[in-house]
Amino acid sequence: MGVERTLVLIKPDGVIRGLCGNIISRFENIGLKIVAMKMIWVSKEMAERHYEEHVGKPFFVGLQKFITEGPVVAMVLEGIDAIEVVRKIVGPTEPKSASPGTIRGDFAHLSYSMADERGIAVKNIIHASANKKDAEREIGIWFSIDEIYKYENIYEKTL
Ligand code: AMP
Repeated sequence: MGVERTLVLIKPDGVIRGLCGNIISRFENIGLKIVAMKMIWVSKEMAERHYEEHVGKPFFVGLQKFITEGPVVAMVLEGIDAIEVVRKIVGPTEPKSASPGTIRGDFAHLSYSMADERGIAVKNIIHASANKKDAEREIGIWFSIDEIYKYENIYEKTL
């Protein structure tokens, strides 16, 4: 238990649907601190680095196409147990299984079976690091050290 950093990506489907403000507000509303943020149009090589564990899987070609088809908003969020808390807000990977109130449950409904049948990645709006090791690796891919800022937000000031 402690202060953690996690990587969040608003994927191209979230960006083109104009969901960035709504998504970012959810994290800000509960006191998570944005310590880095930028918009990037990801290359195929960067997609391979980020999703290295999925390279070669049946859905990887579709996943690479999906994540490179438009710009992505990348951010690093910081807070107590931020990795677990962010994943709770995001909901499970498959939108069909995500509860209302989660980002995926509120903004998507598609299933793995539908995606697999069509040979595409399941469009699920957002990515959030799964664990501490992944968070460290992923933050290193998307941000340099001097792009990550140290400051105190209002929640920390009143803790
Ligand atoms: P994950 O690392 O589990 O977040 O998976 C990466 C992304 O690949 C997910 O967010 C989905 O967009 C997509 N994905 C994962 N598993 C599947 C699957 N079985 N079929 C289609 N897309 C998938």
